[in-house]
Amino acid sequence: MIIVLKKNTPKEDVKKLCSQLERKYQISTNPIYGEVLTIIGLVGDTSSIPKSEIALNQIVDKIMKVQEPFKRANRMFHPEDTVIDVGGKLIGSDQFIIVAGPCAVESEEQIETIAKELNECGTGFLRGGAFKPRTSPYSFQGLKAKGIELLKSAGDRYSMPIVTEIVHPYDLELFAEKVDIIQVGARNMQNYELLKELGSLRKPVLLKRGFSNSIEELLMSAEYIMSGGNQEVILCERGIRTFDKTFRNNLDISAVPYLKKVTHLPVFIDPSHAAGIRWMVEPLVRAAIACGADGALVEVHNNPEIALSDGEQSLLPSEFKQMLENIAPLANAVGRRIL
Ligand code: PEP
Ligand code: MN
Repeated sequence: MIIVLKKNTPKEDVKKLCSQLERKYQISTNPIYGEVLTIIGLVGDTSSIPKSEIALNQIVDKIMKVQEPFKRANRMFHPEDTVIDVGGKLIGSDQFIIVAGPCAVESEEQIETIAKELNECGTGFLRGGAFKPRTSPYSFQGLKAKGIELLKSAGDRYSMPIVTEIVHPYDLELFAEKVDIIQVGARNMQNYELLKELGSLRKPVLLKRGFSNSIEELLMSAEYIMSGGNQEVILCERGIRTFDKTFRNNLDISAVPYLKKVTHLPVFIDPSHAAGIRWMVEPLVRAAIACGADGALVEVHNNPEIALSDGEQSLLPSEFKQMLENIAPLANAVGRRIL
């Protein structure tokens, strides 16, 4: 339920109403103070709250029911876009954010070489998996804590915030301390215990859509993090499984404008894991920019033929640089700058 208050309602009156509502109906409230309008989102079981009773309050303008099961992620609760500030880099703003790096951190030399190249072309964020959730237990599982150390020192050297995936709540402290944006991978999108733990942090979470999950399920997973108090969630469409096996996955590009409409959260795409083919990365990034995405996660490797994972979808640094040059005019055309 959403309560829209009358224009220019004083903050003290908003707070008073919030505590009255919380006490009376055992729900939680989420006031959003806009330039002129203030709204209060009600979260919890609102089915028995009598609208007529709330409408009696002098400061209430109108009351609306939120039909969707996702509340905090809903644009009705938060009409303005959420902008996440990571060391001055604004996610969800007019910057189109590029997060680039290898699928997995493999060695100090590898991550340093790639980070240097990425930094030279002005890439905003450095990625690299340290805990790898591989389909086969016999595949490379990542360098774990050592991988995070290597990623962080490369990121620090080039002033690039780091993005890496968490797979177990056990590692929460390590991630909270060392990582700038914590990624939840497709395979863990519905790991609710992990999501609840991430909700207790005050650190951005990049939440990937599971390859067999609906958009609503993605939003409900975001809701798990947000209901714990962490509002800094970035949604990422990374391709879903369909009947068509031409590509590794099918990038659900429709998810981008849809998510931008129904939520206020930043929306990224991951063209690398969607396509699974190197040459398709750039066209998919173009599509994402054109339809309003806020960023892209791109795999880059200095030596893809001997990469320990996902070499076939990784761009060479030179190809990545070329892509950045190619997409800049398109980003400008839709009022965005590449970061
Ligand atoms: C990744 O980004 O390294 C990854 C494993 O992606 P996904 O969870 O989308 O498969
Ligand atoms: Mn990968």
